[in-house]
Amino acid sequence: MFEKILIANRGEIALRIQRACREMGIKTVVVHSEADREAKYVKLADESVCIGPAPSIKSYLHVPAIISAAEVTDSQAIHPGYGFLSENADFADRVEQSGFVFIGPRGDTIRQMGDKVAAKDAMIAAGVPCVPGSDGALPDDPAQIVKIAKKIGFPVIIKAAGGGGGRGMRVVHTEAALINSVNMTRTEAAAAFGNPTVYMEKFLEHPRHIEIQVLADEYGNAIYLGERDCSMQRRHQKIIEEAPAPGITDAQRKKIGEACAAACRRIGYRGAGTFEFLFENGEFYFIEMNTRVQVEHPVTEMITGIDIVQEQIRIAAGEKLRYTQDDVVLRGHAMECRINAEDPFTFVPSPGKIESYHPAGGPGIRIDSHIYQGYTVPPHYDSMVGKLISYGDTRDQAMARMRVALSEMAITGIKTNIPLHQELFMDGAFQKGGTTIHYLEERLSQLKKGDA
Ligand code: ADP
Repeated sequence: MFEKILIANRGEIALRIQRACREMGIKTVVVHSEADREAKYVKLADESVCIGPAPSIKSYLHVPAIISAAEVTDSQAIHPGYGFLSENADFADRVEQSGFVFIGPRGDTIRQMGDKVAAKDAMIAAGVPCVPGSDGALPDDPAQIVKIAKKIGFPVIIKAAGGGGGRGMRVVHTEAALINSVNMTRTEAAAAFGNPTVYMEKFLEHPRHIEIQVLADEYGNAIYLGERDCSMQRRHQKIIEEAPAPGITDAQRKKIGEACAAACRRIGYRGAGTFEFLFENGEFYFIEMNTRVQVEHPVTEMITGIDIVQEQIRIAAGEKLRYTQDDVVLRGHAMECRINAEDPFTFVPSPGKIESYHPAGGPGIRIDSHIYQGYTVPPHYDSMVGKLISYGDTRDQAMARMRVALSEMAITGIKTNIPLHQELFMDGAFQKGGTTIHYLEERLSQLKKGDA
């Protein structure tokens, strides 16, 4: 096992990784920007290295500074967390070439999954169900494109092979608008991602977002840890997640889970990963794979009892998976609210000093957050300041505990989206379960009109 790990991230996930390391008796090195000097995990680290000024491009994305920090501290491995460099194949390669272990999949796996056309091809070959579409990149010939769209049936969605973060997509409802939309998406994709390749999919109108968590080791062992429902989203950003997904049967879970585990074995996947699907009319459709730990991993940890971050570290250290599929038993229900420093209804970011902080507590409550009273939320990064997680024997109990926790949790000095979460946990359709990815935006427009 490693003696020392460098954490190349910030915020709640830096603290989360640090906790896993400390529990395992591994020393931690934290790299941070000038804006994050006062962070809790910097104070708790065995060593810390300031790698640059506040802008991410000069610190958390600055590869040479991170590698140098690993060298001067004699770190053995680098955990990239999520966001920043976590899905950057060149970074993963660079880490390994510099003699450190990258806690994640091999660079070439990240590269393959980062190209959505290549990822989809690999999934089709592995027998993972995908959204019906163009089977690869769209050709140049307009007549061919029209033919493909007609075969799929309108509406269709044009997506950039190199896209990410909800960007580089365009929905097309009519044949008349098709060619123009394809050309526009190509131009934008070339400018934004340096890759003009686009592909086409059937646009699903009322899907839910359901994803499968997997763990795989270097020796060809792969298991799935059930699913999460992350349909509560605004502008493709998830705000509430839960596990298991309401209404999914054991047979459905087993079928899709086994397909994902088989795909891991086939592509030689290593580490923790997530297969994201749209789910409509009882069918799963693969949209992408994330080759890193996800923000919402705690809900899976709560219902499986498996520490996903510790398993990432063990796999990276070359250990065999400690669990077989039969060891994975789902128990109870977990929900997660992302707590963002923002106005709850206009979503304008609200960085600044936290004047007072009273976290929630009690049975079945977990908080993953780096904030404390007196901490200043810097304006330079993502607005998420923590995650409030509830667990119960049943979904109703997890929801009831979340309602209590949300009412106890008090953060002053900055605005947070806690009032929005309170609203949603009182919402009839959400309480029932199974709302689609469009539900939150529809609900928000009702709230705006005042006819909620
Ligand atoms: P990104 O990597 O940018 O997140 P995804 O392929 O994961 O891109 O898609 C992001 C979101 O776009 C999905 O969660 C879904 O809301 C929407 N989307 C993508 N593909 C489709 C589709 N075929 N039909 C309907 N919505 C889609």
